Amino acid sequence: MKRTEIVNRTLIARATEEATAYLEALPDRYVGARTTREELLASLRRPLSDGGEDAVGVFDAIAAQGEGGTLACAGPRYFGFVIGGSLPVALATDWLVSTWDQNPGIYVTSPAISVMEEVAREWLLDLLDLPRESGLGFVTGCQMAHFTALAAARHGVLRRAGWNVEEDGLAGGPRVHVVTGAEAHITVDVAMRYLGFGTKALHRVETDEQGRMRADALQKKVESLPEGPMIIIAQAGNVNTGAVDPLREIAAIAKKRGAWMHVDGAFGLWARASRALRPRVDGIELADSWATDAHKWLNVPYDCGIAIVRDAEDHRAAMTSVAAYLVQTAGAERDAVDWVPEFSRRGRGMPVYAALRSLGREGVEALIDRNCAHARQMAARLREVKGVEILTEVVLNQVLVRFGGDDETTRRVIAGVQQEGTCWLGGTTWHDVAAMRISFSNWATSEEDVERSSDAIVKVYRGVDESTSR
Ligand SMILES: *Cc1c(COP(=O)(O)O)cnc(C)c1O
Repeated sequence: MKRTEIVNRTLIARATEEATAYLEALPDRYVGARTTREELLASLRRPLSDGGEDAVGVFDAIAAQGEGGTLACAGPRYFGFVIGGSLPVALATDWLVSTWDQNPGIYVTSPAISVMEEVAREWLLDLLDLPRESGLGFVTGCQMAHFTALAAARHGVLRRAGWNVEEDGLAGGPRVHVVTGAEAHITVDVAMRYLGFGTKALHRVETDEQGRMRADALQKKVESLPEGPMIIIAQAGNVNTGAVDPLREIAAIAKKRGAWMHVDGAFGLWARASRALRPRVDGIELADSWATDAHKWLNVPYDCGIAIVRDAEDHRAAMTSVAAYLVQTAGAERDAVDWVPEFSRRGRGMPVYAALRSLGREGVEALIDRNCAHARQMAARLREVKGVEILTEVVLNQVLVRFGGDDETTRRVIAGVQQEGTCWLGGTTWHDVAAMRISFSNWATSEEDVERSSDAIVKVYRGVDESTSR
């Protein structure tokens, strides 16, 4: 290959064209997937060739054949799960991450990304107003943020009990009791598995009608457990309701017991960046560790989560890979391997740096406030319709809705809305009843999108309602 062929101008131009066309169509396209698995397989599956194919041809084929199997989740009317879009500046920077193709595991292999992640760490701790000396790692998502922060917790509580888990493992050591709410996100269970605690080690505490852990029940549970190391996992932002556990009370219980308090703030932690919403996550700053996502509410491309640990030494001790050949820096330079489970990795902190620098403090606040206003707007519009019930308080960006007072109608409305295509949202089971979950976490969503979507939802409901009463 000639040196100049490193640049394939045709491919770069095609990628730019394709991206532009995709993004331009996004606000008005059918929000769901338009192609079935069978159709995708029919076009994409072929025997792996011996000789390969022309690069531009491959790109064009993927763009043409794959696109129908994408959801418009980067667009303004995708309200499923808690997904979030991509700020243009974060997307552009993400392209640069791929273009530079750095391996920022250690400072020496990418000074630029090391420094951007160092600065992004400072900005995040400042914006979220968490202890400025905390350790912080950019991981793939909140799942790995839990794993990372809870590994630090495991190290911290066992170190205090005189046990070095990094060297001696869990077997034979003091038993660690882990306590969480009955509605903890499933990724907490998975982290228990990865960490060798096992899911049965998880003691679950009753939640209230909004999905919040009950502090009185936690108190009882903690008292019922024998002395020894303990980790309490609270939640800021229930994935269904957005509800926030009574964090200040939980912190007091944790402190009294000498337990480590970890918070799942996958999206809820961002309420800290809003002056109006900050009181809703009161006490979150008292925790020992936090897990959150940047690919949800900060609107950077997948995959990007953030693990934050108050005691940076516990964080580093749990994650660092000390290998002589690594030339890890003993000085001020930041080596990512000290803060994340990965060794080689993507420079995923760079789009975070770009998003924060572009939005500024007020831009982040406006994004969070706007999405929460969308949730209230949606709830207010739907609440006016007879037969539609908003199941819980709208505290952040999540709205839970039930139609016609029964599961069947609710499920048919969800399926109908997905089919209709103006917007996309999913179903969930909330305290044993079927519910529609509408989530707002995209910078591009406008009030008009909320109006259009609520109109579409109501129209589908009227159709379902008529067909059942006939
Ligand atoms: C999304 C979410 C997670 C998992 O985050 P990933 O980024 O998908 O790993 C964990 N907890 C809560 C509350 C969430 O909303």
